[in-house]
Amino acid sequence: MILQNKTAIVTGAGQGIGKQIALTLAAEGADIAVCDINIEAAETVAKEIKDIGRNSVACKVDVSNMKSVEECTEKVLDTLKKIDILVNNAGITRDALLVRMKDEDWDLVIKINLTGTFNFTKAAAKHMMRQRSGKIVNIASIIGLVGNIGQTNYAASKAGIIGLTKSSARELAPRGITVNAIAPGFISTAMTERLPDDIKQMMLKNIPLGKFGMPLDVANTVLFLSSPQSDYITGQVINVCGGMVM
Ligand code: NAD
Repeated sequence: MILQNKTAIVTGAGQGIGKQIALTLAAEGADIAVCDINIEAAETVAKEIKDIGRNSVACKVDVSNMKSVEECTEKVLDTLKKIDILVNNAGITRDALLVRMKDEDWDLVIKINLTGTFNFTKAAAKHMMRQRSGKIVNIASIIGLVGNIGQTNYAASKAGIIGLTKSSARELAPRGITVNAIAPGFISTAMTERLPDDIKQMMLKNIPLGKFGMPLDVANTVLFLSSPQSDYITGQVINVCGGMVM
């Protein structure tokens, strides 16, 4: 097991891609802090992880609130004792065309997706810098690279995550910490299920591999970027999108 004796924080781990990331890292030996605003969902995932013999703690957190993030980080350190891996996965969409977008929907998406990633990176980096090691993986999106109609807020938040990834990779490299991002394409989860069928069919036509991705496709890439196999990789963005963006 490639992550034996490692501990990981996964945000937004109550469902979807985050849940799969938590289970995949646990299957490779890591103890997991399952962090989510939905505590019931987080507790269910933490129990699943304990059932396979790993240590796990569920933590109710709003990533957009620094105080909440600091309290969660303290709780994780109390129970799991260290933070080797941080996966910033929590994210939302509030889609609307630019001219119709409500100010509060712009603010909320930036606060949760981008400021949330900043908040957890700051809290975990303090600990990782003392430890002189760490792996941070940020979940961006191909929309942050190419944009999308109706997603100015989401695209800006994900493009921001890529800039945050590259800058923090430069800052933290001297302390033995790597920071990378993953840009998923269309992954089958609750977030994408609510899209109308005609939009889904249109997207499918633009995917060279001819199918939507699964949460495990993203989780396997997180596993690589969290393991010693990626020790010489930092500041990079890996697209997991079936070839949609090249
Ligand atoms: P999802 O909606 O299924 O799950 C998101 C999780 O984040 C939920 O458990 C939710 O409770 C949690 N969350 C929301 N707001 C939070 C907050 N303020 N604090 C803490 N937790 C919060 O979404 P998903 O499809 O699994 O997406 C996960 C990540 O992957 C997101 O960052 C998303 O932008 C990104 N992504 C998804 C796709 C896709 O096609 N599904 C594509 C590209 C990128």
